[in-house]
Amino acid sequence: MNRTTAKKEIARLKELIVYHNHRYYVLDAPEISDAQYDRLFKRLADLEKAFPRLVTPDSPTQRVGAISKDKFSTVTHSLQMLGLENAFNAGDISDFDARVKRYLQMEGDIPYVVEPKIDGLAVELVYENGRLTVGSTRGDGITGEDITGNLRTIKSIPLVIDQARAGGVPDYFEVRGEVYIGKSGFVKLNEQREENGESLFANPRNAAAGSLRQLDPKVTAKRQLEIFCYGTGIVKGIEFGTHEEVLNTLKKWGFCVNKEILAVAGINEAAARCECLSGIREALDYQIDGAVIKVNSIELQRRLGTKTRAPRWAIAVKFEAQRENTKIRDIVPSVGRLGAITPVAELAPVIIGGVEVKRASLHNEDEIRKKDIRIGDTVVVERAGDVIPYVVSVELSLRPADAKEYLFPKECPACGSEVIRHEGESVYRCIGLSCPAQLKERLRHFAGKAAFDIQGLGAKNVDQFVDANLLHDLSDVFYLKQEDILKLDRWASTSAKNLIDAIAKKKEIPLHKFLFSLGIKNVGEFASKMLADRYKRLDKIYPAAKDELKEIDGVGETVADSVVRFFADENNKRIIQRILDAGVNVLPPEEKSPEKQPLAGLRFVVTGTLAGLSRSEAKDIITRNGGKVVSAVSGSTDYLLAGASPGSKLDKANKLGIKIIDEEDFFSMIGGA
Ligand SMILES: [Zn+2]
Repeated sequence: MNRTTAKKEIARLKELIVYHNHRYYVLDAPEISDAQYDRLFKRLADLEKAFPRLVTPDSPTQRVGAISKDKFSTVTHSLQMLGLENAFNAGDISDFDARVKRYLQMEGDIPYVVEPKIDGLAVELVYENGRLTVGSTRGDGITGEDITGNLRTIKSIPLVIDQARAGGVPDYFEVRGEVYIGKSGFVKLNEQREENGESLFANPRNAAAGSLRQLDPKVTAKRQLEIFCYGTGIVKGIEFGTHEEVLNTLKKWGFCVNKEILAVAGINEAAARCECLSGIREALDYQIDGAVIKVNSIELQRRLGTKTRAPRWAIAVKFEAQRENTKIRDIVPSVGRLGAITPVAELAPVIIGGVEVKRASLHNEDEIRKKDIRIGDTVVVERAGDVIPYVVSVELSLRPADAKEYLFPKECPACGSEVIRHEGESVYRCIGLSCPAQLKERLRHFAGKAAFDIQGLGAKNVDQFVDANLLHDLSDVFYLKQEDILKLDRWASTSAKNLIDAIAKKKEIPLHKFLFSLGIKNVGEFASKMLADRYKRLDKIYPAAKDELKEIDGVGETVADSVVRFFADENNKRIIQRILDAGVNVLPPEEKSPEKQPLAGLRFVVTGTLAGLSRSEAKDIITRNGGKVVSAVSGSTDYLLAGASPGSKLDKANKLGIKIIDEEDFFSMIGGA
């Protein structure tokens, strides 16, 4: 393909992707399947890779940009982003209406618009010539933080306005909205953080705020953020008649506007609508903490004006927090599918927001200590994000004399193995290879592509075999019998034989893959490879001391600690021996010939502070894998490996269009080889 054809094709693909993005993320009405969308996206990315000079900043492939320096710069809002006064009951709502009428010297019904109040973070988006140029937080209303890079990762925010659909837009306009994380996204994010031993977000608003303030847009991009737009700042050349008109225009321009917003004739209807929103809040997939009533007419809004920091034409109606008091009957540890041990409070059943709550995760030891939660205590329970029961605090005045402190178990409640808490983590983990709580997940990992890669032993079959008691630990995979499988549903003699054959075929495995297959905490593909390269044989790793291990590139203290404890567990060693007894042959690493080295011929510049290794270690790894390290960024540089605070080299690399990678990318370049 020549450059001219490519340019045309890129333009066509961009337009298509922008169109389908809007159908999917804004209108929630996709016209094509996810797979079809992914193909379009990949085709565009491939073409842009082949013709890098045709990449523009507004391309859908460019949503995730480079890491910010250590803090965000400040943006001054051209129109102040005002806060709202609160109403807590029906009396406050009618007082608001009375004040509006008094101020305007009007009688009769005032038309209002009622919007759900999204529990998120207010932001402003500036568009110039149809392109998103600046995105900022509300901050103190006068100045906010420049978080353009992070806002660009939110797919329901158009990077460029589709002029054809919008029918033309002003040269300059500002859109305001609330960035939020949906309830399901919030639950998933906290689950992940719990497994990783990271602190949890108390509610979706904190989660959205925390995600938007990441210096690395890559982190933000993973966080399922969305936006509802509800207003404008300066819009050059357009006079709106009503707030409804503003919202309809935003929709036409391609912004996401909440579907529950309703225009009403007067204050009684407005109050009724607030009641109704309060009633449906459970059913919405985003958290709302109230409703906003706004005077619909822009002319009346102008006449009402603002007092100090809040407009006179709007009020936030706060819903009652969904929280109740109840008693903690007991605290029991529960083992997650990745071995994290979570203390769970068993509560005297209580109805919160229409749902019975009997249990609440207390997350970890630190959380229990910090809140001083004891068995027998009366506690305040809330449903974070209207979903997850969450213990907010203890009612100390109600503490009985016999309230008991909770002692964290020293052994896994599911298998009796040692539980350990790694430095810098807040969770305890079970290290047992045969832990029933972790068995399915461990087996999936064991049979997965980067480990034994056994065809036909996917999640569904693993679940079936474990549930049927055919697999009790990893080694059982190599002792599966055709006749046992045949007794199960869905299996015929051919399929059972195929699986047994597939397993038999995988009895030869390189050492690094074998190490990785064991699922030792903190030992990923890269560390497995480094360990394999250093020790060559499995039985040499067993007796290795922590001090020796941590000196290896890409290993370090945490990994070394995990390895030592894992191999100190007699049961773990027994299972490994049983795998070897089944005839599994662990192969020593091949000596790399130069053309097989993963970084052969590539030129790297290293800059900034890397998290897991020193710069000289990074350079050493590059050289040993066939790459070359140069000190200055130039046109012939292939990759810039950038850590935190990368400085001017990053700017230069950006200018020259040089591929910028982080440590994770770097490790996968070598680890995947
Ligand atoms: Zn266990």
